[in-house]
Amino acid sequence: MHTNTHQAGFVSIIGKPNVGKSTLMNALLGEKISIISPKVQTTRHRILGILSKPEYQLVFSDTPGIIQPKYKLHGNMMEFVNQSLQDADVVLFITDHTHESEEDPELIEKLKVIKTPLIVLINKVDELKSNEEVMSRVEFWKNQLNCSAILPISALNKFNLDTLLKQVLQHIPKGPSYYPDDQLTDKSERFIASEILREKIMMRYKEEIPYSVQVEITEFKQEEKLLRISAEIYVMRDSQRQIMIGKGGIALKNTGIAARRDMERFFGQHIFLQTYVRVKENWRDSDKLLKQFGYKED
Ligand code: GDP
Ligand code: MG
Repeated sequence: MHTNTHQAGFVSIIGKPNVGKSTLMNALLGEKISIISPKVQTTRHRILGILSKPEYQLVFSDTPGIIQPKYKLHGNMMEFVNQSLQDADVVLFITDHTHESEEDPELIEKLKVIKTPLIVLINKVDELKSNEEVMSRVEFWKNQLNCSAILPISALNKFNLDTLLKQVLQHIPKGPSYYPDDQLTDKSERFIASEILREKIMMRYKEEIPYSVQVEITEFKQEEKLLRISAEIYVMRDSQRQIMIGKGGIALKNTGIAARRDMERFFGQHIFLQTYVRVKENWRDSDKLLKQFGYKED
């Protein structure tokens, strides 16, 4: 039971690659990292983790479209940015000891139109040589943006993270948790990819097929310009395999295209998806397979 002072809300984390988003998440969540299925907010956010304490629950997510140049915004940029952040209570913009963000006018323009309370984090201060250097970064962002706080932090050394949490909580409304407080399952990105493909199969095939199918991601590899994903789709009979593949392979191809599109939205990058259909008569009974699919604990 929560008292009426319990707070719960959404925190969007944005920032260029390599600034320390993952490190910060790990530092904040510790072992309690919980990456959950994309179904909740499929296209605009991906949930990075949930931090549940007796006094509050913070749901951290990122918004890939804002930072990545391949999502260059045509037309109504303001609307896009506002929409994609509207359900966040506070936005954390992370930058680091390099000048990459400071030298990206397009990024700064996007940050300027964010109406949600914005906290700027200057990460990796352990790499900065002097206090003056830290202060000049703070000054820069203070002049550029209308933000509610600017904090120097070190995600790696867990420096100033208490202050960060206090600042964040100032913007989080009172209310009950959005997710079960004990949701600790570590759902990996692989799992999310398999769920996306499984969802497309469930939507596209009739009758017994959805219930006879299991998906396993056999390759999940970050390459320079794309994410390479291979998936094996297990069915129980050869007749089901024929249906899965369809005449001339068209059914499988279209399912793959639909899954790839969703994966690209979710992971915020190009995906090369390969799918294979295999007959595995007894997958439902096989211990090893059930473990692989995550239905069974060791
Ligand atoms: P992301 O791409 O934004 O998720 O960045 P990562 O969290 O993967 O971090 C990129 C690199 O920066 C890694 O090598 C981290 O160890 C390093 N890093 C992150 N935070 C800090 C920090 O506070 N200080 C230093 N020196 N390095 C950091
Ligand atoms: Mg990362």
